[in-house]
Amino acid sequence: MILVVNAGSSSIKFKLYDISQKNNPISLVEGLAERIKVDGALTIKMNDKKHQFDDKMDDHLMAVKSILNRFKELKVIENIEDIKGIGFRVVHGGDKIVKPVELTDENKKTIEENIRLAPLHNPGALTAIEAFEKGLPNAKLVGCFDTSFHQTMPEKSFLYTVPYSWYKEYKVRKYGFHGISFDYITEECAKIFNKKKEKLNLIICHLGNGASMCCVKHGQSFDTTMGLTPLAGLMMGTRSGDIDASILQYMAKELNKDVYEITDILNKQSGLLGISEISSDMRDITNEAFHKGENANRAYLTLELYSERVAEYIVKYANHLQGNVDAIVFTAGIGENSSVIRSWAMERVKLMNIEIDKEKNEADYDLYMEISTPNSDVPVFKIRTDEELMICKETLKFLK
Ligand code: ADP
Repeated sequence: MILVVNAGSSSIKFKLYDISQKNNPISLVEGLAERIKVDGALTIKMNDKKHQFDDKMDDHLMAVKSILNRFKELKVIENIEDIKGIGFRVVHGGDKIVKPVELTDENKKTIEENIRLAPLHNPGALTAIEAFEKGLPNAKLVGCFDTSFHQTMPEKSFLYTVPYSWYKEYKVRKYGFHGISFDYITEECAKIFNKKKEKLNLIICHLGNGASMCCVKHGQSFDTTMGLTPLAGLMMGTRSGDIDASILQYMAKELNKDVYEITDILNKQSGLLGISEISSDMRDITNEAFHKGENANRAYLTLELYSERVAEYIVKYANHLQGNVDAIVFTAGIGENSSVIRSWAMERVKLMNIEIDKEKNEADYDLYMEISTPNSDVPVFKIRTDEELMICKETLKFLK
């Protein structure tokens, strides 16, 4: 079995896979340990049934022990030694880590060095890695990084137009995120189009609560919308995306706050929430816009702003690919489920002839569906992403 872990400073999200059929890992249970260091709460979902436990969790190690004990109690596993590998999602691998790696002391040190670039994410991952190392000393530990897929970007994509010394001395550059999802979608497209990954040119729109896009050229990341941090690029649930950098000092002065407080507003009170003043959740905004509530106009405007930005990057990335685009793909919570955003974004792409099939755009689907008509210059797809499965498959490679 392989356990996939996504950990924060006070939570551990996990999914356990049976890997006896190597090409087809099967998910057995998933769950969440949360309120670590507070009181502790553990939820395990198994066969659509939720089991809840109030296990005390003073630290990540106690959380790990309680997860493993409950696995035994629920008879998910007989012996914890059956878990042969653990795959961790890690946000920032900096410019050193370019693919999934075994979590050796050296690679753990790299995660630690990158805490200054991802202060909210890397510490939690590191603490969880150390806890699982103690809890399951014989398992192989593998790290999959959100940044590593983008390490193929050329300098002209990743450099900011700031003093070059900022890049050299302080590592100020575009790193990009959601790489595990972009990699997964690229592999799925290789299967769907029956084409070698190295031959694929894609424009992928990963539109979740956090959102970013990737220009995939010859199977590799060529450009992406997030930057040094996940604040850049598209409009998101609560993040502004790209704005004039001077707004920071201007609003710091106007509101008598420091740059940290203003950056916090750009991360937590902007985007869909900031513009709509309704919600950070796309479902709420879509409902408001189409059910003509009191705030319908603002909700409508929010949807327009959101779609326009996606369209702008589609055009930019089609230009990067000289028009040779195998597919435009929508994925993650909004990309997979919002027919409005998909059709509005594509309507705003004026430099390509793309026609969305209304019925297919709105239809239920299992793993993927083409939503454009055969008249379109480029096919458009909705594809479900699965970052946990991708991490499981990458971890499996280290067990062979
Ligand atoms: P995260 O980045 O937290 O993993 P998700 O990928 O789960 O986020 O995406 C969450 C977003 O997806 C929310 O804005 C939510 O409103 C949106 N979403 C989920 N289902 C639908 C739906 N049926 N229609 C429109 N938006 C949806």
